[in-house]
Amino acid sequence: MKRIFSGIKPTGHLTLGNYLGAVRRWVEVDQHRADALFSVVDLHALTVEHDPARVRRLSRQAATLLLAAGLDPERCTVFVQSHVDEHARLSYLMECVATDGEMRRMIQYREKSGRAQASGQSVRLSLLTYPALMAADILAYGTDEVPVGEDQTQHVELTRDLAVRFNQRYGHVFTVPKATHPEVAARVMDLRDPTSKMGKSHENGAGIVYLLDDADAVRRKVMRAVTDSGREVVHDRAASPGVANLLDLLAAATGGDPAALAGGYASYGALKKDTAEAVVELLRPVRERHAELAADPGHVDEVLRLGAERARGMARPVVDRAYRAVGL
Ligand code: ADP
Repeated sequence: MKRIFSGIKPTGHLTLGNYLGAVRRWVEVDQHRADALFSVVDLHALTVEHDPARVRRLSRQAATLLLAAGLDPERCTVFVQSHVDEHARLSYLMECVATDGEMRRMIQYREKSGRAQASGQSVRLSLLTYPALMAADILAYGTDEVPVGEDQTQHVELTRDLAVRFNQRYGHVFTVPKATHPEVAARVMDLRDPTSKMGKSHENGAGIVYLLDDADAVRRKVMRAVTDSGREVVHDRAASPGVANLLDLLAAATGGDPAALAGGYASYGALKKDTAEAVVELLRPVRERHAELAADPGHVDEVLRLGAERARGMARPVVDRAYRAVGL
């Protein structure tokens, strides 16, 4: 059976981008077709300025939302990264295989470190070494596939390079994984700035739909989405990114094809209205289930404890083998 690993960072509230780009497919497809692990990767949340209490709260909320979205602990392993020491242990070996140059080439590092410096903040070393930890997350489980949004492609490519290099140098230890992407909504864009992705860590929430937004908040945000000065509804990501984003969202929520859906609309207003309602209906069951689970924290704790135990059991032999292979 194929092994799948993927994760989500508790750096903010989960967004519609996280859901459509990743979580929904974990729920509907991945947990049924493979031996799958899904992790709240809290160590990664420490690469930028963070508030300890907030990270703890967001980790818990993210784990609860994964269960609310439909990950079933009977079918897959749901756990918090920092509960399993093997991630940090293997990350160090990855740092010893990777080069400084390849870390500095990562687009996310360049963007995030640029932003930090521009606002006068220092850049944590862990922001640079982040992909080494991510490689460890993936490789510790003998992962075959990593279902992620397109923004993570470069990091998974680097993980492959590190696995191949390690195996060549020290003998075969790691499975070489590959990234897979959802067919629709692989990249959900910010509603107010459709040239940048809808990211949970962005400061300005006006263009971001959060999974726990209530119906009115979703409607308000979608109705205020930036479109363009034209009138015609066409699916053209380059010329009309805001409209294309709405069509992508509508298609992802209703199961249609974005280009075909465009033909059914004579105005942006009607498109926004239908998109808003489709998103409200898409998120309703997740929000309801989240409220039930949040009322029973003992249950979530137990799921996470069992998940970490199972994950540890899988990772430890692989990481031990890697330590032996490098001479430790
Ligand atoms: P974020 O960028 O919101 O901090 P994470 O790094 O925690 O998200 O990623 C969790 C998953 O969600 C990844 O698979 C990522 O590719 C996916 N994802 C995040 N934002 C988007 C988006 N706007 N569109 C599609 N997928 C996304």
